[in-house]
Parts: sequence; C-alpha cells; structure tokens
Amino acid sequence: MRKPVIAGNWKMYKLLAEAAETVLKLKSLVTNAGHCEIVIAPVFTQLKTIADRLEGSNIQLSAQDCASESEFGPHTGEVSTSMLRDAGCSHVIIGHSERRQFYGDTDQSVNKKVKAAAAAGLFAIVCVGESLAERDAGAEENIVKGQLLNGLEGLTLADTERIIIAYEPVWAIGTGKTATPEQAQEMHAFIRRTISEIHGESVANAMRILYGGSVKPDNVGLLMEQADIDGALVGGASLEAESFAKIVNYK
Ligand code: PEP
Repeated sequence: MRKPVIAGNWKMYKLLAEAAETVLKLKSLVTNAGHCEIVIAPVFTQLKTIADRLEGSNIQLSAQDCASESEFGPHTGEVSTSMLRDAGCSHVIIGHSERRQFYGDTDQSVNKKVKAAAAAGLFAIVCVGESLAERDAGAEENIVKGQLLNGLEGLTLADTERIIIAYEPVWAIGTGKTATPEQAQEMHAFIRRTISEIHGESVANAMRILYGGSVKPDNVGLLMEQADIDGALVGGASLEAESFAKIVNYK
C-alpha cells in the first residue's frame, strides 16, 4: 500500500548540458516503471530546464534544499519553497547529512524548512541518520529519535501526508559501505514506531521511509525486500542514467 520512491540526489555534480543529457537517457530507460515513484534532484540552477525536459514523463523533480523562510524578503542567496514550486519541483530534500555537517542545518532549521515545504505543498524528503561514532556508542536510536521529534515537531495531519523520511546512516554515504538489509530494516522499523508515537499508527503506516547510503544496482533488491524499506535515496549511483535506471527497475 506504500508506493516505493526511488530518488536520485545529484548533489553538486553536472553542468547543465550533461544534466539534460542524463535526463533524456533516464526517461527512456524508466518509461515502464509504474511500480515506484521516481524523483531526481539536480542543483538549483538546473531545475527549470530539467523540469521542462521532464514534462509528460514519470519522473518528478526535487530540489536539494530550501529556505526556512517562506515569505518573500531580504534573504540573499536563499530559494523559497514557492520558488521551487514555480520552477517545477514537487519535492525537496531537507536536512541531508552533508548540509547538517558542513552548512549549519540543525533539527530546528530542518523543522522550519519542513513547515515551509508544507506551506508550498511540496513533498519533503527529510533525512535522518547517525554518524559512525554515534553508532559505535550505541546511540543511533536516540540520535534518530531526536532528529524525528525535533524535525517533525508541530506538523498537522495534512502536513504529514507529504513527508517522506530518508534514513541515511552518515557512515554509509559515499563510502561504499551499505547498512546490511537487517540493520536498515531494524532502524526503519524503529523510525516507524517513533512516527507512530508522535502522529499515530495510521500516519506511521502510510509514511514512506527510504534508505540511503551507497545504494547500488546490486544491493537495492535485498534492501527493497525489507518490510519497512519503501524506497531509496541514491547519491553516486544516480549520476549515470544506466545505473540509476537499474535501481529504479529493481523489480
Ligand atoms: C546521498 O547523497 O543521499 C547518498 C545516499 O549518497 P550515496 O548513495 O553516494 O551514498
């Protein structure tokens, strides 16, 4: 009953011509993929062009971040969620660990951004996950619970319908180390229980929880077999149309 989501995070890669070429290839490779929702997230400057190239396809567009303020105003360098809608986005990634580690995102700013996404009617792909030191200290559940409680604080029932969680253990991002399907399932089940405590069981049962961290064509199948894994957020392996299409077509 939860439609899987396979999302590609292109991070700060690709100039426009290459991005457009990748999208063109990808479109033809995933035309028959009705079993999941497909999302790609290029950089801000490419959103409108890529949105135009995606028109009529089964691929949706995401930004990689958004402003925490949703009104027009003096916020130099920021891009609001209504501007993302205007450029053709349906989704936005919020609280990616690279933004938390290097660009000052906190649970509090994540919460403001999630509310700004809700105000604009965007799906928010909200990233949570522990570092290696936190896992080694046995603190992974506490860390993720805190990120969920603070990041999703104060949402209405309607807002929760547009939340997608991405569990991305920081130690598995871009490292080639994937959480085992069992490790991932254990945390996904914990996340669903936590969502249930905050927002109730029916919200928790409907919410998609994606796994992210070195997902590749050869490990996606086993991950997707897990009961609480509802898709993937893919970095490196989403950059090439062929490998991303293999992940999309995991079935
Ligand atoms: C990511 O950037 O969200 C990610 C999961 O990257 P990778 O697949 O390269 O580990």
